[in-house]
Amino acid sequence: MATGTRDYYDVLGLKKTATQDEIKKAYRKLARKYHPDANPDDPKAEEKFKEVSSAYEVLSDPQKREQYDAGPSFFGQGAPGGGAGGYRGFQGGQPMGGDWADLFGNLFGGGGAGGFGGGFGGGGRPQQRAERGEDISVGVRVSFEDSLKGVTTKISVPLTVQCDTCRGSGAAPGTSPTTCPQCKGRGVVSQSQGFFALSQPCGRCGGSGTVIEHPCAACGGSGLTRALKKFTVPLPAGVKDGTKIRLKSKGEPGAYGGPPGDLYVIAQVDESPVFERRGSDLLVEVPVTITEAALGASVRVPTPDGSVALKVPAGVQDGKLLKIKSKGAPKLGGGGKGDLLARIKVLVPEGLNGEQKELLKKFAQSYKKDPRAGRPGWSA
Ligand SMILES: [Zn+2]
Ligand SMILES: [Zn+2]
Repeated sequence: MATGTRDYYDVLGLKKTATQDEIKKAYRKLARKYHPDANPDDPKAEEKFKEVSSAYEVLSDPQKREQYDAGPSFFGQGAPGGGAGGYRGFQGGQPMGGDWADLFGNLFGGGGAGGFGGGFGGGGRPQQRAERGEDISVGVRVSFEDSLKGVTTKISVPLTVQCDTCRGSGAAPGTSPTTCPQCKGRGVVSQSQGFFALSQPCGRCGGSGTVIEHPCAACGGSGLTRALKKFTVPLPAGVKDGTKIRLKSKGEPGAYGGPPGDLYVIAQVDESPVFERRGSDLLVEVPVTITEAALGASVRVPTPDGSVALKVPAGVQDGKLLKIKSKGAPKLGGGGKGDLLARIKVLVPEGLNGEQKELLKKFAQSYKKDPRAGRPGWSA
């Protein structure tokens, strides 16, 4: 490590009698000159920059400068800004800002500290936060009959998967990702800034620590590709239109070690010409004649599993719901079946012949009840 090996005054190009102002000016000039961001292609610039920063750290602090001027015995260990561990971040309460922010505000184009993604703390790779993969929803069409019986269906879902060609490495076959030359695989670049060590994700490798010099042609270097994945999905008896079935962890893969998302299969149930779904009940319309409605009758009614006899009581009104127990749809999650609701639809006879009209007129003479009598708003 270069720090501490050269005379700090030499590093800044100053005499021992330099004033604080001169030290600051010299530092500004050199720091701008050697800042790694201003010299992306010169690896020596970073070393220079660290050296300049270390010198400034000591000489800008009157107490430290005094110790430094007094001789190496005061310094020896704990050389400023460095040590085997690299540029450790200053953990104490030294605030950012002041000279430091002022100095680099221009270089980074931002307003001081806010422009630096890395913040304090040198050392390891940046924390790439694990991200859960996305949930995926796919619709699957189901016939009404199958929705009641349950069915196993096969679906193909386009999903992001590991690239087969490069086995997910992103590097062309026969090559492999190499250690990033910029950050030496650390994923971050650090600069010592006086008391501070500034870390930011490496711009060359994006923080991964590796670079791909020959990207895989199949995936463009991402290591990922889209593929149709096949799933066998059991749709339980009783699924409704819109029922979601969750296939846990079968969605898009997570990033940075995060868990995969889920796959939701949404049942799209065809309509039935016979039954209408109402929760776990089914509704069926039962047409009856006026005489069946008036006198009562036994009518065969279709159910999902064959027809059953329904007793229509005498005097039943149009629209009346008669319940046929446990002939509805299976309840999802167990618990038997819903009911079949038979809705009475009284059909008024049309196209009567002379004899039929006579019979009804006779009936009308016998049946004198006024259907409107006694209703609110109706006068006799
Ligand atoms: Zn690939
Ligand atoms: Zn890098």
